[in-house]
Amino acid sequence: MAGLSRREFLLSMAALPFVKLAIPPLAAGLSAGLAGARQAEGGAKRPNILMVVFDAFSAHNISLYGYHRATTPNLSRLAERATVFHQHYAGGNYTTPGTSTLLTGTYPWTHRAAQHFGHVRAAVAPNNAFNLLPSDYYKVAYTHNPLALAVIMEFARYINYLPPREFLTLSDALWTDGLFPKDYPVAVHAERVFDADNRPSSDPFFRALQVLKIRAAAQANERRYGELFPRGLPDATFNSEFILEEAIDWVGELSTTADKPYFAYVHLFPPHAPYNTRADFVDIFDDGWNPAEKETQPFFSKDNSPERTHRQRRLYDEFIAYVDAEFARLFEQLERSGALENTYLVLTSDHGEMFERGFTGHGGLPLYDPVVHIPLMVWKPGQTQRVDVTERTSAVDVLPTLLHLTGQPIPDMCEGIVLPTFSDAARPAGRPIYGVESMLNNAFSPITVGTLAYFQDRYKLIQYIGYEDLPNNEPFFELFDLENDPDERENLFGVQKTLGDDLRAQLSQKVDQANLPFRRS
Ligand SMILES: [Zn+2]
Repeated sequence: MAGLSRREFLLSMAALPFVKLAIPPLAAGLSAGLAGARQAEGGAKRPNILMVVFDAFSAHNISLYGYHRATTPNLSRLAERATVFHQHYAGGNYTTPGTSTLLTGTYPWTHRAAQHFGHVRAAVAPNNAFNLLPSDYYKVAYTHNPLALAVIMEFARYINYLPPREFLTLSDALWTDGLFPKDYPVAVHAERVFDADNRPSSDPFFRALQVLKIRAAAQANERRYGELFPRGLPDATFNSEFILEEAIDWVGELSTTADKPYFAYVHLFPPHAPYNTRADFVDIFDDGWNPAEKETQPFFSKDNSPERTHRQRRLYDEFIAYVDAEFARLFEQLERSGALENTYLVLTSDHGEMFERGFTGHGGLPLYDPVVHIPLMVWKPGQTQRVDVTERTSAVDVLPTLLHLTGQPIPDMCEGIVLPTFSDAARPAGRPIYGVESMLNNAFSPITVGTLAYFQDRYKLIQYIGYEDLPNNEPFFELFDLENDPDERENLFGVQKTLGDDLRAQLSQKVDQANLPFRRS
């Protein structure tokens, strides 16, 4: 074993199903960046925080939360020792706003990272987890996702160890990842312009180089891992292929090698599309099951046939099973090393994924539950009993909770509160929760184009404003009773008129308040 790099070691096992192997810790390899790390004296008792984010992981498709298919048998088993949040919601509907909400404890109408590769605005940026957690915590971040990396790079000065994206990818067609990691947001924008963002480039020479690079890497990866990934390798966009096993091993190793106490934010790409699951999960849900169709709004695009939607859902579910198995393998590594005894392990997502109403994926207009209802599970140090929390919670609550756990003050800017079971303080009754989509809105102007979701008690109001194609160019509303109609089938707006008008007025007041800093006097 000695002398083998991690990648060579993984290659030597490429023909074997990983799930049956107990992978021994490696002495050499990619943890070299932490080689000089040392255990802080006297710091051993302060809890570490390891946050694992799986991208586009919808609670709607997780069997632990009641989904029809058994997608997460391991999460169900591990839940017996966890605090499980059943009604947890993302702040936005794709990576940029969702990640920014998680890391700043603010909604997209405050942080304003709503466009592709957008940034948290300067006034909010210092309000990030890496800065606010204790200064003697060792801060680590990694992500496969270029959109998440663009957000994280804005906080780079507060992070002790931030390896580039290609650190845990097998191949990477983005030149930026390798050549300009320190100037990531600017360089990746420039590269997208040159490369025309996966469309035919305006620069044929650059494009030809890119194509050769992609082809050579893809062929090499196919030779090594093709048997394990018959649908193709997982790809974190821009032809950056990776295997989840490598990232999981790195996280397990990090927990024993990083300086203590540490905060690690690890944002992994699966189960985000393309849904290229591992061989042992291919076709496990080829069961012919399809949920009943739902009606869509005429102003929604309906690009997908029911057949395609059903197939995509099944591939997604089979990809989740891979995530579930690999998370369990990480959990076992953490348990074996004793790390769980002094670590808060957090599993969550940046947003969900949806396969209904002619829509597959995430982003765009919808804020229906499948695209914003996400998992949240926390394993407290040494926890042995399961705790179920059914109170509705939001991604804005995660940062205040971490600050509370580490004895740090919670800044006024945070829009969340400490999660239930983490604090003895009385819970505010009827606390509202929000979801915000504003990709088409100018980041520096009041929100006049977007979708807003407002959760109050059992009800959810969705407001669409400013989009072309809205009926009569008027704001459009949907009102759902999530207790009687969790599938959001029956629009009660206009049926329960008083309730609809009340909620509409409350949401309007909240949006006016959020827009205030962006109004010109
Ligand atoms: Zn995402």
